[in-house]
Amino acid sequence: MLDPCSRWLPGGEKPEYAGLLTFCELPYTEDEADLAGVDVAIVGAPMDELVSDRAGARAGPRAIRSASGFPGAHLETGINPYAELRVVDFGDAPVLPADPARSHAAIEHTVGAVVRAGAIPLILGGDHSIAEPDIRACTAVHGPVGLVHFDAHTDSAPECLGAEFSHGTPMYRLVESGAVDPLRYVQIGLRGYWPAPSVFDWQRERGITSLFMHEVRERGIADVLEEAIAIVGDDAVFVSVDIDVLDPAFAPGTGTPEPGGMSSGELLWACRTAGERLRVIGADVAEVSPTWVGSSDITALVASRIVHELLAGIAARERPQMPSRLPGTRHQNLISSKASSGGYVGTGSRGGTDGTPLR
Ligand code: MN
Ligand code: MN
Repeated sequence: MLDPCSRWLPGGEKPEYAGLLTFCELPYTEDEADLAGVDVAIVGAPMDELVSDRAGARAGPRAIRSASGFPGAHLETGINPYAELRVVDFGDAPVLPADPARSHAAIEHTVGAVVRAGAIPLILGGDHSIAEPDIRACTAVHGPVGLVHFDAHTDSAPECLGAEFSHGTPMYRLVESGAVDPLRYVQIGLRGYWPAPSVFDWQRERGITSLFMHEVRERGIADVLEEAIAIVGDDAVFVSVDIDVLDPAFAPGTGTPEPGGMSSGELLWACRTAGERLRVIGADVAEVSPTWVGSSDITALVASRIVHELLAGIAARERPQMPSRLPGTRHQNLISSKASSGGYVGTGSRGGTDGTPLR
Protein backbone atom coordinates (compact mmCIF):
# COMPACT_ATOMS: atom_id res chain seq x y z
CA MET A 1 0.00 0.00 0.00
CA LEU A 2 1.42 3.37 -1.03
CA ASP A 3 0.34 6.51 0.80
CA PRO A 4 0.74 9.48 -1.58
CA CYS A 5 0.91 11.86 1.40
CA SER A 6 3.59 10.14 3.49
CA ARG A 7 6.54 12.12 2.06
CA TRP A 8 4.88 15.37 3.17
CA LEU A 9 4.15 14.19 6.71
CA PRO A 10 7.18 15.75 8.42
CA GLY A 11 6.54 19.21 7.01
CA GLY A 12 2.79 19.59 6.57
CA GLU A 13 0.22 18.48 4.00
CA LYS A 14 0.63 17.40 0.38
CA PRO A 15 -0.72 19.94 -2.13
CA GLU A 16 -3.37 18.49 -4.46
CA TYR A 17 -1.25 18.99 -7.59
CA ALA A 18 1.81 17.12 -6.31
CA GLY A 19 2.71 13.49 -5.76
CA LEU A 20 1.15 10.21 -6.88
CA LEU A 21 -2.28 10.78 -8.46
CA THR A 22 -4.91 8.73 -6.61
CA PHE A 23 -8.59 9.39 -6.05
CA CYS A 24 -8.93 11.93 -3.23
CA GLU A 25 -5.31 11.30 -2.16
CA LEU A 26 -6.30 7.82 -0.99
CA PRO A 27 -3.74 5.09 -0.33
CA TYR A 28 -2.94 3.19 -3.54
CA THR A 29 -2.48 -0.53 -4.09
CA GLU A 30 -2.64 -3.08 -6.89
CA ASP A 31 -2.19 -5.98 -4.45
CA GLU A 32 -5.37 -7.98 -3.79
CA ALA A 33 -4.02 -8.91 -0.33
CA ASP A 34 -4.22 -5.24 0.65
CA LEU A 35 -8.00 -5.31 0.07
CA ALA A 36 -8.57 -7.32 3.25
CA GLY A 37 -10.66 -5.21 5.60
CA VAL A 38 -11.27 -2.50 2.99
CA ASP A 39 -14.84 -1.13 2.79
CA VAL A 40 -14.70 0.61 -0.60
CA ALA A 41 -12.15 0.49 -3.45
CA ILE A 42 -11.92 2.89 -6.39
CA VAL A 43 -11.21 1.20 -9.76
CA GLY A 44 -10.52 2.96 -13.06
CA ALA A 45 -11.92 1.56 -16.31
CA PRO A 46 -10.28 3.73 -18.98
CA MET A 47 -11.79 2.54 -22.27
CA ASP A 48 -13.98 4.23 -24.87
CA GLU A 49 -13.88 1.97 -27.93
CA LEU A 50 -17.63 1.25 -27.74
CA VAL A 51 -19.07 4.75 -28.04
CA SER A 52 -21.54 5.53 -30.81
CA ASP A 53 -20.54 9.19 -31.12
CA ARG A 54 -17.71 11.19 -29.53
CA ALA A 55 -14.83 9.25 -27.92
CA GLY A 56 -12.71 10.55 -25.03
CA ALA A 57 -13.99 8.74 -21.94
CA ARG A 58 -10.74 6.72 -21.80
CA ALA A 59 -9.31 9.84 -20.13
CA GLY A 60 -12.15 9.90 -17.58
CA PRO A 61 -10.57 7.99 -14.67
CA ARG A 62 -7.38 10.05 -14.70
CA ALA A 63 -9.32 13.32 -14.97
CA ILE A 64 -11.76 12.36 -12.20
CA ARG A 65 -8.86 11.47 -9.90
CA SER A 66 -7.21 14.77 -10.78
CA ALA A 67 -10.38 16.73 -9.95
CA SER A 68 -11.19 14.75 -6.80
CA GLY A 69 -9.55 17.06 -4.27
CA PHE A 70 -8.69 15.96 -0.76
CA PRO A 71 -10.59 13.98 1.90
CA GLY A 72 -12.56 16.04 4.34
CA ALA A 73 -15.88 16.21 6.15
CA HIS A 74 -18.91 16.89 3.93
CA LEU A 75 -20.28 20.25 5.06
CA GLU A 76 -23.98 19.40 4.54
CA THR A 77 -23.93 16.14 6.51
CA GLY A 78 -20.81 16.50 8.62
CA ILE A 79 -19.75 13.04 7.49
CA ASN A 80 -16.15 12.37 6.49
CA PRO A 81 -16.53 9.13 4.53
CA TYR A 82 -12.76 8.80 4.26
CA ALA A 83 -12.52 8.67 8.05
CA GLU A 84 -15.63 6.53 8.58
CA LEU A 85 -14.83 3.97 5.89
CA ARG A 86 -11.62 2.26 4.83
CA VAL A 87 -11.30 3.47 1.23
CA VAL A 88 -8.40 2.77 -1.16
CA ASP A 89 -7.59 3.43 -4.80
CA PHE A 90 -7.09 0.02 -6.47
CA GLY A 91 -5.81 1.58 -9.70
CA ASP A 92 -6.97 0.96 -13.25
CA ALA A 93 -8.03 -2.28 -14.88
CA PRO A 94 -5.34 -3.30 -17.42
CA VAL A 95 -7.38 -2.40 -20.51
CA LEU A 96 -6.08 -2.98 -24.04
CA PRO A 97 -6.63 -0.26 -26.65
CA ALA A 98 -8.76 -1.35 -29.63
CA ASP A 99 -9.70 -4.66 -27.95
CA PRO A 100 -12.93 -3.99 -26.06
CA ALA A 101 -13.61 -7.67 -25.31
CA ARG A 102 -10.28 -8.08 -23.54
CA SER A 103 -10.72 -4.72 -21.84
CA HIS A 104 -14.10 -5.88 -20.53
CA ALA A 105 -12.50 -9.08 -19.24
CA ALA A 106 -9.80 -7.03 -17.50
CA ILE A 107 -12.40 -4.76 -15.91
CA GLU A 108 -14.48 -7.73 -14.73
CA HIS A 109 -11.36 -9.36 -13.23
CA THR A 110 -10.17 -6.20 -11.45
CA VAL A 111 -13.62 -5.27 -10.11
CA GLY A 112 -14.09 -8.93 -9.17
CA ALA A 113 -11.02 -8.82 -6.91
CA VAL A 114 -12.65 -5.98 -4.97
CA VAL A 115 -15.99 -7.76 -4.67
CA ARG A 116 -14.41 -11.06 -3.64
CA ALA A 117 -12.53 -9.21 -0.88
CA GLY A 118 -15.90 -8.13 0.53
CA ALA A 119 -15.48 -4.48 -0.48
CA ILE A 120 -17.70 -2.18 -2.52
CA PRO A 121 -16.20 -1.24 -5.93
CA LEU A 122 -16.70 2.33 -7.16
CA ILE A 123 -15.68 2.30 -10.82
CA LEU A 124 -14.62 5.37 -12.81
CA GLY A 125 -15.35 5.09 -16.55
CA GLY A 126 -14.87 4.80 -19.35
CA ASP A 127 -17.76 4.56 -21.78
CA HIS A 128 -20.96 3.08 -20.37
CA SER A 129 -20.31 -0.37 -21.84
CA ILE A 130 -18.25 -0.90 -18.66
CA ALA A 131 -21.51 -1.38 -16.74
CA GLU A 132 -21.63 -4.93 -18.11
CA PRO A 133 -18.29 -6.17 -16.66
CA ASP A 134 -18.81 -4.02 -13.54
CA ILE A 135 -22.17 -5.60 -12.74
CA ARG A 136 -21.17 -9.13 -13.82
CA ALA A 137 -18.29 -8.98 -11.33
CA CYS A 138 -20.78 -8.06 -8.60
CA THR A 139 -23.35 -10.70 -9.49
CA ALA A 140 -20.65 -13.41 -9.39
CA VAL A 141 -20.63 -12.89 -5.62
CA HIS A 142 -24.02 -11.34 -4.81
CA GLY A 143 -26.28 -13.06 -7.37
CA PRO A 144 -28.76 -11.06 -9.49
CA VAL A 145 -28.87 -7.42 -8.39
CA GLY A 146 -31.21 -4.46 -8.61
CA LEU A 147 -30.07 -1.45 -10.61
CA VAL A 148 -30.55 2.29 -10.20
CA HIS A 149 -29.46 3.82 -13.52
CA PHE A 150 -29.10 7.58 -13.95
CA ASP A 151 -28.89 8.39 -17.67
CA ALA A 152 -30.44 10.40 -20.49
CA HIS A 153 -30.55 7.09 -22.38
CA THR A 154 -31.80 3.59 -21.56
CA ASP A 155 -28.67 1.82 -22.91
CA SER A 156 -30.96 -1.17 -23.32
CA ALA A 157 -31.10 -1.62 -27.09
CA PRO A 158 -30.34 -5.13 -28.43
CA GLU A 159 -27.90 -3.45 -30.83
CA CYS A 160 -26.59 0.03 -31.54
CA LEU A 161 -25.62 1.05 -35.10
CA GLY A 162 -25.60 -2.68 -35.88
CA ALA A 163 -23.26 -3.64 -33.01
CA GLU A 164 -24.22 -5.86 -30.07
CA PHE A 165 -21.29 -4.61 -27.99
CA SER A 166 -21.82 -0.87 -27.51
CA HIS A 167 -22.39 1.70 -24.82
CA GLY A 168 -26.02 1.63 -25.99
CA THR A 169 -26.58 -2.07 -25.17
CA PRO A 170 -25.16 -3.11 -21.75
CA MET A 171 -28.48 -2.99 -19.88
CA TYR A 172 -30.19 -5.20 -22.48
CA ARG A 173 -27.43 -7.77 -22.11
CA LEU A 174 -27.46 -7.62 -18.30
CA VAL A 175 -31.22 -8.13 -18.11
CA GLU A 176 -31.35 -10.90 -20.73
CA SER A 177 -28.47 -12.77 -19.02
CA GLY A 178 -30.22 -12.59 -15.65
CA ALA A 179 -27.52 -10.45 -13.98
CA VAL A 180 -29.97 -7.59 -13.37
CA ASP A 181 -33.47 -8.27 -12.02
CA PRO A 182 -35.70 -6.19 -14.32
CA LEU A 183 -38.36 -5.88 -11.61
CA ARG A 184 -35.73 -4.11 -9.43
CA TYR A 185 -34.30 -1.99 -12.25
CA VAL A 186 -35.13 1.74 -12.32
CA GLN A 187 -33.93 4.28 -14.88
CA ILE A 188 -33.95 7.97 -13.91
CA GLY A 189 -33.54 11.03 -16.14
CA LEU A 190 -34.48 9.66 -19.59
CA ARG A 191 -35.06 12.25 -22.31
CA GLY A 192 -34.35 13.14 -25.91
CA TYR A 193 -34.86 11.01 -29.00
CA TRP A 194 -33.40 7.56 -28.32
CA PRO A 195 -34.09 4.62 -28.19
CA ALA A 196 -36.92 3.52 -30.50
CA PRO A 197 -40.40 2.60 -29.15
CA SER A 198 -39.62 -1.11 -29.67
CA VAL A 199 -36.97 -0.88 -26.95
CA PHE A 200 -39.48 0.63 -24.54
CA ASP A 201 -41.90 -2.19 -25.48
CA TRP A 202 -39.21 -4.73 -24.48
CA GLN A 203 -38.57 -2.82 -21.24
CA ARG A 204 -42.28 -2.87 -20.34
CA GLU A 205 -42.48 -6.62 -21.06
CA ARG A 206 -39.59 -7.23 -18.67
CA GLY A 207 -41.01 -4.95 -15.97
CA ILE A 208 -38.26 -2.30 -16.04
CA THR A 209 -39.26 1.07 -14.53
CA SER A 210 -38.49 4.20 -16.58
CA LEU A 211 -38.65 7.54 -14.77
CA PHE A 212 -38.24 10.29 -17.34
CA MET A 213 -36.61 13.68 -17.00
CA HIS A 214 -39.98 15.38 -17.32
CA GLU A 215 -41.04 13.51 -14.16
CA VAL A 216 -37.95 14.76 -12.33
CA ARG A 217 -38.85 18.27 -13.50
CA GLU A 218 -42.53 18.05 -12.56
CA ARG A 219 -42.44 15.89 -9.40
CA GLY A 220 -39.01 16.80 -8.09
CA ILE A 221 -35.99 14.54 -7.64
CA ALA A 222 -36.93 13.60 -4.05
CA ASP A 223 -40.32 12.19 -5.09
CA VAL A 224 -38.86 10.35 -8.08
CA LEU A 225 -36.04 8.84 -6.02
CA GLU A 226 -38.50 7.75 -3.33
CA GLU A 227 -40.38 5.76 -5.97
CA ALA A 228 -37.10 4.22 -7.15
CA ILE A 229 -36.13 3.24 -3.60
CA ALA A 230 -39.51 1.57 -3.06
CA ILE A 231 -39.13 -0.45 -6.27
CA VAL A 232 -35.54 -1.51 -5.62
CA GLY A 233 -36.23 -2.56 -2.02
CA ASP A 234 -33.77 -3.86 0.55
CA ASP A 235 -31.69 -6.33 -1.47
CA ALA A 236 -28.36 -5.76 -3.20
CA VAL A 237 -28.33 -2.96 -5.77
CA PHE A 238 -25.81 -1.47 -8.18
CA VAL A 239 -25.88 2.28 -8.94
CA SER A 240 -24.80 3.24 -12.46
CA VAL A 241 -24.39 6.94 -13.24
CA ASP A 242 -24.00 8.15 -16.82
CA ILE A 243 -22.75 11.72 -16.50
CA ASP A 244 -25.00 12.68 -19.43
CA VAL A 245 -27.99 12.48 -17.10
CA LEU A 246 -26.83 15.99 -16.19
CA ASP A 247 -27.72 18.88 -18.43
CA PRO A 248 -24.79 19.64 -20.77
CA ALA A 249 -24.58 23.01 -19.03
CA PHE A 250 -23.31 21.09 -15.98
CA ALA A 251 -21.42 18.29 -17.77
CA PRO A 252 -20.47 19.30 -21.31
CA GLY A 253 -17.63 16.77 -21.56
CA THR A 254 -19.53 13.64 -22.52
CA GLY A 255 -19.99 11.48 -25.61
CA THR A 256 -23.70 11.94 -26.31
CA PRO A 257 -24.90 15.14 -24.58
CA GLU A 258 -28.65 15.71 -24.36
CA PRO A 259 -30.02 19.13 -23.32
CA GLY A 260 -32.75 19.41 -20.71
CA GLY A 261 -31.15 17.31 -17.98
CA MET A 262 -30.66 17.31 -14.24
CA SER A 263 -28.67 19.85 -12.26
CA SER A 264 -25.54 18.86 -10.35
CA GLY A 265 -27.30 19.59 -7.05
CA GLU A 266 -30.16 17.21 -7.86
CA LEU A 267 -27.86 14.38 -8.91
CA LEU A 268 -25.40 14.76 -6.03
CA TRP A 269 -28.26 14.66 -3.50
CA ALA A 270 -29.76 11.63 -5.24
CA CYS A 271 -26.46 9.74 -5.23
CA ARG A 272 -25.87 10.38 -1.54
CA THR A 273 -29.43 9.42 -0.67
CA ALA A 274 -29.22 6.24 -2.75
CA GLY A 275 -26.01 5.34 -0.91
CA GLU A 276 -27.69 5.90 2.44
CA ARG A 277 -31.08 4.30 1.78
CA LEU A 278 -30.15 1.35 -0.44
CA ARG A 279 -27.88 -1.67 0.02
CA VAL A 280 -25.36 -0.52 -2.59
CA ILE A 281 -22.88 -3.29 -3.46
CA GLY A 282 -21.18 -1.38 -6.28
CA ALA A 283 -21.42 1.74 -8.41
CA ASP A 284 -19.92 3.31 -11.50
CA VAL A 285 -19.68 6.77 -13.04
CA ALA A 286 -19.35 6.64 -16.82
CA GLU A 287 -19.08 8.71 -20.00
CA VAL A 288 -16.84 11.48 -18.63
CA SER A 289 -14.87 12.86 -21.60
CA PRO A 290 -12.58 15.48 -20.10
CA THR A 291 -10.88 18.22 -22.04
CA TRP A 292 -8.92 19.85 -19.22
CA VAL A 293 -6.81 18.68 -16.31
CA GLY A 294 -7.81 18.89 -12.67
CA SER A 295 -10.74 20.90 -11.35
CA SER A 296 -10.65 23.03 -14.52
CA ASP A 297 -12.64 20.21 -16.14
CA ILE A 298 -16.22 20.88 -15.06
CA THR A 299 -17.41 17.38 -16.01
CA ALA A 300 -14.64 15.51 -14.20
CA LEU A 301 -15.20 17.78 -11.22
CA VAL A 302 -18.86 16.86 -10.85
CA ALA A 303 -18.05 13.19 -11.53
CA SER A 304 -15.59 13.22 -8.63
CA ARG A 305 -18.26 14.73 -6.41
CA ILE A 306 -20.70 11.98 -7.39
CA VAL A 307 -18.20 9.51 -5.91
CA HIS A 308 -17.81 11.66 -2.78
CA GLU A 309 -21.61 11.74 -2.32
CA LEU A 310 -22.00 7.99 -2.83
CA LEU A 311 -19.31 7.48 -0.20
CA ALA A 312 -20.97 9.93 2.20
CA GLY A 313 -24.24 8.03 1.81
CA ILE A 314 -22.59 4.63 2.26
CA ALA A 315 -20.78 5.96 5.34
CA ALA A 316 -24.08 7.23 6.79
CA ARG A 317 -25.67 3.82 6.19
CA GLU A 318 -22.70 1.94 7.67
CA ARG A 319 -22.70 4.15 10.77
CA PRO A 320 -26.42 4.66 11.40
CA GLN A 321 -25.81 5.84 14.94
CA MET A 322 -24.37 9.00 13.46
CA PRO A 323 -27.11 11.47 12.46
CA SER A 324 -26.60 12.44 8.83
CA ARG A 325 -28.12 15.91 8.82
CA LEU A 326 -26.88 17.70 11.89
CA PRO A 327 -24.22 20.11 10.70
CA GLY A 328 -22.49 21.81 13.57
CA THR A 329 -22.55 18.88 15.97
CA ARG A 330 -21.15 16.44 13.50
CA HIS A 331 -17.44 17.05 13.83
CA GLN A 332 -17.47 16.50 17.55
CA ASN A 333 -19.26 13.18 17.06
CA LEU A 334 -16.77 12.21 14.41
CA ILE A 335 -13.74 13.08 16.51
CA SER A 336 -14.95 11.29 19.61
CA SER A 337 -16.06 8.21 17.67
CA LYS A 338 -12.71 8.08 15.88
CA ALA A 339 -10.93 8.00 19.21
CA SER A 340 -13.02 5.12 20.49
CA SER A 341 -13.65 3.08 17.34
CA GLY A 342 -10.13 3.08 15.98
CA GLY A 343 -11.54 3.90 12.54
CA TYR A 344 -9.25 4.13 9.58
CA VAL A 345 -8.09 7.25 7.83
CA GLY A 346 -5.27 7.75 5.35
CA THR A 347 -2.41 9.85 6.62
CA GLY A 348 -3.25 12.51 4.08
CA SER A 349 -6.77 13.10 5.37
CA ARG A 350 -7.57 16.58 6.51
CA GLY A 351 -9.43 17.34 9.68
CA GLY A 352 -12.75 19.05 10.14
CA THR A 353 -13.38 22.66 9.18
CA ASP A 354 -12.02 23.74 12.53
CA GLY A 355 -8.69 22.23 11.57
CA THR A 356 -8.93 19.47 14.14
CA PRO A 357 -7.21 16.33 12.93
CA LEU A 358 -9.51 13.33 12.69
CA ARG A 359 -6.77 10.87 13.54
MN1 MN B 1 -26.30 8.38 -21.80
MN1 MN C 1 -25.29 5.48 -20.63
